[in-house]
Amino acid sequence: MERLRQILTRIDGRGYKAYKDIQGEYRFPFFTLYIDYVQGDPFASPSRIRVRMDQQRARYDRQWYADEHRRIALEDWVLRQAAREVQSLSFRVQGTGKSGLFAVDRPGQEILPRTAVVVNERYVELRLTVGLPARGRTVLGNKAIQMLCEDLPRLVQRSLPASSFDREKLEERLRLADNQKAIRDYLREKGWIAFVANGSILPRESGVSDRPLRHGRVVPFQSPPTMEVAIEVPHGEPIRGMVIKDGITLIVGGGYHGKSTLLKALERGVYDHIEGDGREYVITDRNAVKVRAEDGRRVEKVNISPFINNLPFGRDTVRFSTDDASGSTSQATNIMESLEMGASCLLIDEDTSATNFMIRDGRMQALVAKGKEPITPFIDKVRQMYEELGVSSVLVLGGSGDYFDVADSVIMMDEYLPRDVTEEAKAIAAAKSNGRKREGGDSFGEVTHRVVLSKGFDPRKGKKEKTDAKGLHTIQFGTTTVDLSALEQLVDVSQTRAIAEMMRLLGRMADGRKTLKQLVDELYGRIEEKGLDVISPYFGQHPGDLALPRKLEVAAAVNRLRTLSVQ
Ligand code: ADP
Ligand code: MG
Repeated sequence: MERLRQILTRIDGRGYKAYKDIQGEYRFPFFTLYIDYVQGDPFASPSRIRVRMDQQRARYDRQWYADEHRRIALEDWVLRQAAREVQSLSFRVQGTGKSGLFAVDRPGQEILPRTAVVVNERYVELRLTVGLPARGRTVLGNKAIQMLCEDLPRLVQRSLPASSFDREKLEERLRLADNQKAIRDYLREKGWIAFVANGSILPRESGVSDRPLRHGRVVPFQSPPTMEVAIEVPHGEPIRGMVIKDGITLIVGGGYHGKSTLLKALERGVYDHIEGDGREYVITDRNAVKVRAEDGRRVEKVNISPFINNLPFGRDTVRFSTDDASGSTSQATNIMESLEMGASCLLIDEDTSATNFMIRDGRMQALVAKGKEPITPFIDKVRQMYEELGVSSVLVLGGSGDYFDVADSVIMMDEYLPRDVTEEAKAIAAAKSNGRKREGGDSFGEVTHRVVLSKGFDPRKGKKEKTDAKGLHTIQFGTTTVDLSALEQLVDVSQTRAIAEMMRLLGRMADGRKTLKQLVDELYGRIEEKGLDVISPYFGQHPGDLALPRKLEVAAAVNRLRTLSVQ
């Protein structure tokens, strides 16, 4: 630490480039500081540092991190604690541009595996960025000393050692993680899709906030008695709530009665949520995928023939490509690409679906001959998809009772409370013919795996490689922009950053033989072995702002790369 002080004193008043001298490793009384990367000027992306405290000092109980799910919950805990301290220290020192900045990755309502904090048997490490202070382009050495040698040690002391924790709250968080895992394991064992605990708060504060709705009247979730189960958990009483089994589940009900809100909660249930979120015990199979219409997207040689045939001008639907998909062809594509990646369940909302993809009623069948209609609607495929491929569906549908014929269970949302109306719906279906003929043949059709080619991935912009997230739903990949706004289960910009890095790697791994699924599986194999750091070009130093996405979203991003090329 003294050496760092000396360098900073020496370079005080010099040009900003002199800061490069502080790159390196420094022993502080309670931790080690690694200055991995020093920014080129006060406006450039900030400098990257790590602080590492040995377990002899940090004194974490081994039980806090021995199991993976606990370790992830603990790392998230440490990060949130550090984020609060960072907030209060940032910009206490002032100067030009980013001078005085302290920043760490900022988690939302989900608990995700991240690179910002690493806990293991030897140490706990926090990765930050700092804005090294300057006036104009002149080094403010004394202010840098305040930041790195005074404020930073305080931040470390207040957020890393176990003695800085509210242990009771941490233990509670870890018990929650155990219970969430137990419910996930239970669902997997049974082959079921989702669980929504009684008392869950599903609605969110607003369309732009993911926090729970608090003001006004909030109706806590309550399972219909016929759909209720009690799941044994390691801590506390068994947790009771509604289970959605495999098969085809409809969510019906009047407009504004909470259908979409329930489906959204199920979409997010693929991740674990923090205490106080209201969705702590809304758990959905990890491989459930929200699919929607996405007109305008590009499609590269996807086999959509299970849904679409006989396009005008004899266009191929076994290898369907377009630069501008329609509502129905985009929705068919999104489904087929999800099946390619091994989706377990499709989550579909009428609000974001193409009507002609979802349904074609008896009268329309009578008017427009099958030969003139390229689309086999989802209603005629949904059972085959379940029976032949084992892929379930949860569908929000307020507008079409034709689905009663194909559903295993029907949930009606009634003033925000679910009712089991399966029997009534079946009785109506039996009593009233809808006059429609089944379409779509005897079997679902083939899910075709595609071999992706490296030539479609060009991360260069000018002479340099440039791949980065521009917000949650956009990736800049070389000179092309990838639009991810249809990926509703992408929840954190750090996941988007990770996907940008992964796409770069996938482009290198593509060898003209491996399918997209094989490539993504292989990449995740490496991550499992070496940790998420491995995808970063700063491996071994500081990739402090990445969070793990699902394989499904990674593949979905690749599929939306407009230059993608498939054999
Ligand atoms: P639908 O899809 O049935 O038309 P939504 O799910 O969009 O209805 O919900 C309509 C409104 O009701 C939304 O503003 C939502 O936040 C609110 N809402 C949903 N569930 C609840 C609930 N349990 N308690 C209070 N408000 C809710
Ligand atoms: Mg709705």
